[in-house]
Amino acid sequence: DETAGIPIWSIVDSVPTVPAVVGAQLRVPLVTGGSIEYANLDHGASAPCLTAVRDAVNELLPWYASVHRGAGFASQVCTRVYEGARDVLRRFVGARRTDSVIFTRNTTDSLNLLATALPADTSVVVFDTEHHAALLPWAGDRVRTLGIPADPQDAVRLLDAALADCADGPKLAVLTGASNVTGEVWPVAELARVARRHGARTVLDAAQLAPHRPVRIAELGVDHVVLSGHKLYAPFGAGALIGRDDWLDAAEPYLAGGGATRSVPDTGEIDWNTGPERHEAGSPNTVGVHALATACAALADHADAITGHEELLLQRLRRGLRGVPGLRELSLFGAEHDRVGVVGFIVDGHDPGLIAAALAAEHGIGVRDGLFCAHRAVRHLLAGSGEQRAVRISLGLGTTVEHVDRIVRALRGLVAYGP
Ligand code: PLP
Repeated sequence: DETAGIPIWSIVDSVPTVPAVVGAQLRVPLVTGGSIEYANLDHGASAPCLTAVRDAVNELLPWYASVHRGAGFASQVCTRVYEGARDVLRRFVGARRTDSVIFTRNTTDSLNLLATALPADTSVVVFDTEHHAALLPWAGDRVRTLGIPADPQDAVRLLDAALADCADGPKLAVLTGASNVTGEVWPVAELARVARRHGARTVLDAAQLAPHRPVRIAELGVDHVVLSGHKLYAPFGAGALIGRDDWLDAAEPYLAGGGATRSVPDTGEIDWNTGPERHEAGSPNTVGVHALATACAALADHADAITGHEELLLQRLRRGLRGVPGLRELSLFGAEHDRVGVVGFIVDGHDPGLIAAALAAEHGIGVRDGLFCAHRAVRHLLAGSGEQRAVRISLGLGTTVEHVDRIVRALRGLVAYGP
């Protein structure tokens, strides 16, 4: 924490310049009267929109038209924007030239689409720690859950053993990039290497990693990546499934309808498209996809600054939280393990719901409390504590030093005097 003898905390009043978000100066009412600038510390749920995304959406709206179908100029503009977004997403995740980009609603939708596209006898292995979006879409007696690893090497061992034990046939390992409960980063490249050794494919849930760190499909050696626009500083409603296309091209279309077919004869077999169109029936979310691509391009352009910004704020936050009596940070792999700007915690003798409510009402701070759609992971992390829920702080591009200092101060006050 020292830089050339100067305590970092005395010089970190500003952090690297990162893309601006909308709503940065929103004011919210306080129960004590008056109002305060909103401190959104819930980026892990949904991140605010970038100003660049808002501007890009505004620019596109006058040209709003249906893609792929119209001969008119606006339709051509929208078609170019929509198809061009696939290349932006491909670059954003460092995809291979042959990887396809299918636009979906979000990570949940992407994983459900992949689940419907698995060959019939596919064995699926998945850690119990996964977010429900990655834990629940897989059905059948070939799904095996891997429990909760004690450390990253244990995760590798568990995966190795489970894949060795799988029946013959296709295999899929479901991996996560970063936990939405603890922020801890998973050893994805190592897990993918083990999977490959067993001839298994991998899907990476990058919903929580991609907003914080570059994700490179080819370097990580994963087969599919899924992500959500609303966690990447774009509005709700657009996400993507990126990766190998052979299972997807051979699968039944995810949705049946216009755009997914080459031809529909009067009788007999329908000739379905291959490629992304096969699974994107219906008028697509062109504006949402444009917003997602704009956000991805901006994040990629500022990757180093984003990492630096968050690292400084995260260090400052964790250092502050260590000074709050009775506060216990949640961790699967230990306090020193690499993590993105997400911190789950409980405070001895203080109800997590009341903490979150007090932070909102008395301090204008937005956090989340609960089980974060990762019930097994949270129950495991809370075992023996007597708590059923936890509180989560998640940092992002809208976070400032003042927000971090405010929540630390507020938590100290809550513990000292109660809500
Ligand atoms: N995976 C992880 C790790 C998440 O944090 C989330 C959202 O919280 C999801 C998947 C699901 O994302 P969405 O709700 O956008 O489908």
